[in-house]
Amino acid sequence: MHHFKLSLWFYTRQLSLRLGMLVSLLFLSSLALATDEIIQPDGNISAQNLNIRLTPKEKLWLAQNQTIRVAVKKGWMPIEFMLENNQHRGLSIDYLSKISSLLNIKFSVINYSEDLDSTQVDMISAMGSILGEKNSFRPLNQPYLMFPHAIYTKKSKNKKFHSLEDLKSSRIAIFKNGPLGHKILENYPKIKLVYVDIADEAFDKLKSGAIDAYIGNEMVLDYHISVHHLVFVEKAGLTPFSSSVFMAVQNDKPELASALEKSILAIGQNNNELLDNWRVTEDHYNQILSVILAGVFLIFLFVSTRFYRFHKNSKKQNSESQQKIWYQANYDHLTKLPNRHLLQNRLEQAMERADRSKLPLAVLFIDLDNFKQVNDTSGHSVGDKLLADAANRICRCVRSEDTTARFGGDEFMIVMSDINDMRSLEKVCKKILIELKKPFDIDSDKFFISASIGVSIYPNNGLNPEELISYADQAMYESKKLGRNQYQFFTASIQTDSLKKLSLSNDLRDALIKNEFVIFYQPIVNLENSNILKAEALIRWNHPTNGMVNPMDFIPLAEESGLIHELGDWVFHQALKDLPVIQAQFGAEFQVSINVSPYQFQKPDNLLKWAEAIKKVNISGNCFSLEITEGILLEPSSAVINTIAALRSVNIAFSIDDFGTGYSALAYLKKFNIDYVKIDKSFVQNLQPNNYDAVLCEAIINMARKLGIKVIAEGIETNIQQELLKRFSCDYGQGYLFAKPQPLDMFLAFLASNKNH
Ligand code: C2E
Ligand code: CA
Ligand code: CA
Repeated sequence: MHHFKLSLWFYTRQLSLRLGMLVSLLFLSSLALATDEIIQPDGNISAQNLNIRLTPKEKLWLAQNQTIRVAVKKGWMPIEFMLENNQHRGLSIDYLSKISSLLNIKFSVINYSEDLDSTQVDMISAMGSILGEKNSFRPLNQPYLMFPHAIYTKKSKNKKFHSLEDLKSSRIAIFKNGPLGHKILENYPKIKLVYVDIADEAFDKLKSGAIDAYIGNEMVLDYHISVHHLVFVEKAGLTPFSSSVFMAVQNDKPELASALEKSILAIGQNNNELLDNWRVTEDHYNQILSVILAGVFLIFLFVSTRFYRFHKNSKKQNSESQQKIWYQANYDHLTKLPNRHLLQNRLEQAMERADRSKLPLAVLFIDLDNFKQVNDTSGHSVGDKLLADAANRICRCVRSEDTTARFGGDEFMIVMSDINDMRSLEKVCKKILIELKKPFDIDSDKFFISASIGVSIYPNNGLNPEELISYADQAMYESKKLGRNQYQFFTASIQTDSLKKLSLSNDLRDALIKNEFVIFYQPIVNLENSNILKAEALIRWNHPTNGMVNPMDFIPLAEESGLIHELGDWVFHQALKDLPVIQAQFGAEFQVSINVSPYQFQKPDNLLKWAEAIKKVNISGNCFSLEITEGILLEPSSAVINTIAALRSVNIAFSIDDFGTGYSALAYLKKFNIDYVKIDKSFVQNLQPNNYDAVLCEAIINMARKLGIKVIAEGIETNIQQELLKRFSCDYGQGYLFAKPQPLDMFLAFLASNKNH
């Protein structure tokens, strides 16, 4: 049956026009709605062992409804069309046939008409544009066919047009329904669009020179050109746009909808086996001899097998390479997920569906925590495997009909339609967090990450795709800010925060040039004898309108934008200028500690230059201590190890900042010859005799002493805290109890008065 079908629709040169007309006439004359046609499993379409799992409810419904009434169109080659013998053929029919073998059901065909009554049919086999379709039918969430829009031009020796870019001020015909015109104009506002009703109209205009190009569904137009033997046309290239074909199901048949949804997922969008039967290219039909059966006519021409094989092969290669190009433009090659571009498409489709169903949709923005660290310290091959695995885990947490896309390096996005209640949405978020928290086994190693999720809802939060994505992104940042490994829904206060952040971020670029940064110094006190020979340099931003901006509000922005490198260098060089002033009054052993962001280790050369700078002045390297976080030491790259070694070789000291909040393993710190650990202020501030934090502090101090590492307790605010820490023999203390961070002159005055007491 299949060979027959293939050859049936390849017209020979001489007969194409007349037969085309005849077939059109036959289409018009068959007006009856009901047909006797049944679609059932087709022996020629291989019934692979596809995996499909139905719920008991779906099974029951299918058992009670063995024959599904489906409305099929007549003249949309090769998607679906009717032969003169009243038989429907096309890609949709092949898909239905495959579904019928999967679900063990039959379809009875009914002729599609615009004013279809929803009581007469259960579903529609193919809808091109989901705008303006019948409200009593809902398209499935995923299209089963998706084809690029291609550019067709008049054949010429010197090809002028290859892409939309070449056509940006030309006259282009497009089909009048559907969103393509809008998308083209959005990107190329100077293009003059000519809307056509049928393909022939466009090709006539192309022939007469009234338009420069015709853009439309590649599969459909290739087929049209081949069947009608339009020798003057050539395909100039593809556009980044595509069009989708959906099945639609009557609103009150959710079991049918979900069973079809699962079947299409099992068979696959653009199933290659099915597509291969319908693909043609422009230049092979001359040689293909075919059989045409038209009503009472029987025209028989036989196939030269050698030619046939040769051309089938070249045809296949051509369509494969186009398919590849299209795939590359729409999918992420590492995770095999849709990319940003396709996501945008799907989101728009989902929004249109939401408009009709009146059910909200959710956009989830997922960003992996600590991924950069794994990637930087363990290499890209580990990073890639982790991403692919993470993508799988995320997909497992959502329904098959939701779209999961890779949005950026370690960012994923999910579009979830039909949100019935927020609790089930929260459940999905929680599930994703749990899945990503589980260890990743890669190359016989275990890696740990977590994720931060932001959620925006359509139509509640935003009305266009850009807004929805941006709001989900902002909510994701809120999750990061609140400590990661959690999800947040977008709120109005997140919006004002992020507007503030945006304007700060813009100002930050100029702040260095305008000299708006200042260093504040906070003393670090020797708890045994109250001497002060150390201080921490803490940056402040004196913003022209916002006043003093807290480093917590701009360091992350600087890290994001890459400005942290310049900012970090500025802090170091400013401290290098200030230090001689401090040392002149309070001794040459005075030590300043400087906070170094993990991001700064991405440019080791910058840090290595610090060693050079110190060597040039008359200051001992040991007068600087660099405060780093332990994360950077966990699985350090050789670049990190070498940088630390080089800085150590000029005697620069190292402190571990915020100790106790992370992995808190002291023993491995010894490997790096760490000088100090700073117990995080969250422990110090909860100190009570005999409480958990007291036990922890004491344990850290004891362990550190055994390893020859000195301990600095941060955030000491009360005498009780100080007394407890002294009792544990903590070496140093820092906090408001002694002094707040203050500008250099005030700090010097403080040191002077402290000395006199
Ligand atoms: P950090 O390194 O943990 O710095 C200690 C923070 O605790 C400082 O906040 C300090 O003002 C505050 N602090 C000190 N004593 C007390 C106290 O008794 N009670 C309380 N509640 N807080 C106390 P600050 O200056 O706002 O800095 C916040 C963070 O910004 C720093 O945390 C550090 O991570 C970062 N930061 C500051 N300056 C720089 C810099 O130059 N470079 C980089 N990369 N990060 C910096
Ligand atoms: Ca610090
Ligand atoms: Ca700290």
